[in-house]
Amino acid sequence: MRKNEMYMSFLADSVNESLARITVAAFAMELNPTMEEIEDIRTSVSEAVTNAIIHGYEEKEGMVEIHCVLLDRLLHIEIKDNGKGIPDVEKGEKAMEPLYTTRPDMDRSGMGFAFMEAFMDSVKVESELHIGTRITMEKEIGKVEDE
Ligand code: ATP
Ligand code: MG
Repeated sequence: MRKNEMYMSFLADSVNESLARITVAAFAMELNPTMEEIEDIRTSVSEAVTNAIIHGYEEKEGMVEIHCVLLDRLLHIEIKDNGKGIPDVEKGEKAMEPLYTTRPDMDRSGMGFAFMEAFMDSVKVESELHIGTRITMEKEIGKVEDE
């Protein structure tokens, strides 16, 4: 079984969004993903990292951590912050509903999790108030889709 693994952590600054999505996409390249699959990975990583920066840390200083594992054709991505956590939400389920946002004032549409769920095979949210949030996403690369 082919296995690969990588960790990265970076300051929660929006300049690092592109660093994060480029690095994860580069990590997945050995699976020869299609352009569409690369775009799915880039968008999902970007949404989760943006959430960590603007909601988790609310633009205050902190670190975002990414852990990727590749097992044969399965890409596993964890994106973690030690920010404020998702309030009143058991396992982040409400936060994952389309159009749910706590920041309509900031021009947020509440579609971040909906994109992640559309583009990845699975998305899991774990969050504890004042401790932080971890998003776990998986995608099989080169999957034969049903018609
Ligand atoms: P959009 O992504 O469309 O700009 P949004 O970020 O509000 O809007 P989602 O990405 O779906 O929408 O997130 C929904 C809500 O979940 C956010 O408004 C926020 O309250 C909460 N949330 C998401 N990620 C985090 C996080 N890392 N820490 C704290 N709260 C979070
Ligand atoms: Mg978002």
